[in-house]
Amino acid sequence: MSRHWLSACLLLLGGMAHASCDPAQTAIALDTGHDKQRYGATSARGLPEWQFNHDLVLHLAEHLLALGRRPLVLAPAGEAIPLTERGGRAAAQGASLLLSIHHDSAQPRYLQRWQYGGDERRYSDRFHGFSLFVSERNGHFAESLRFAEQLGTALLAAGLSPTLHHAEPIPGEGRQLLEPRLGLYRFDDLKILHSTPLPAVLLEAGVIVNRDEELLVQTPAFRAEVAQAVATALDRWCQAE
Ligand SMILES: [Zn+2]
Repeated sequence: MSRHWLSACLLLLGGMAHASCDPAQTAIALDTGHDKQRYGATSARGLPEWQFNHDLVLHLAEHLLALGRRPLVLAPAGEAIPLTERGGRAAAQGASLLLSIHHDSAQPRYLQRWQYGGDERRYSDRFHGFSLFVSERNGHFAESLRFAEQLGTALLAAGLSPTLHHAEPIPGEGRQLLEPRLGLYRFDDLKILHSTPLPAVLLEAGVIVNRDEELLVQTPAFRAEVAQAVATALDRWCQAE
């Protein structure tokens, strides 16, 4: 069976599975990327990525609740829940969709040294912006893709821009860009995406090894823009085609 044919079938199945939904009744799981111990990337000023993910997830949850939506926060206190279990937990709690929240870095070859807070830190101001990932191994690939497209479109409309550095053909990158305009990549082996029994998308909200963007992503204005974009994307995703 050709991969292309398989993809077409998955698209068809995913498309068939979707029916219109009421955004106010549709629980969206917000996965706090990484955990307190294995915290992911380190920012230009030495902060753990997990803290950025945690803070944004809480903001998203508050904002969505205020808009009458149903956010469901996964691993809010930095619990070390295996990636392969997170989606199952979300589904068991009634979620219809999973959004995994992360903040981005760059490959070691791009990192430079600087002094901050009396310590030597690593940074790269070369890249900035958001990116979105979907896995074709997810059982609801078409629905995942559709949510990612809506979220990318809403983030663009908010004035944010995508980063395309994950497509560079170098070790650690080389991801397939599905929609360059939206910073939307295919990354089949991301565990949180392919092991989730729900449509699932991973958002890298911004590049925290970038010294300016590290500050930007911590502002209430930025977090409010992302939250509004998630709400808009959910509404549009729920509209049946
Ligand atoms: Zn991460």
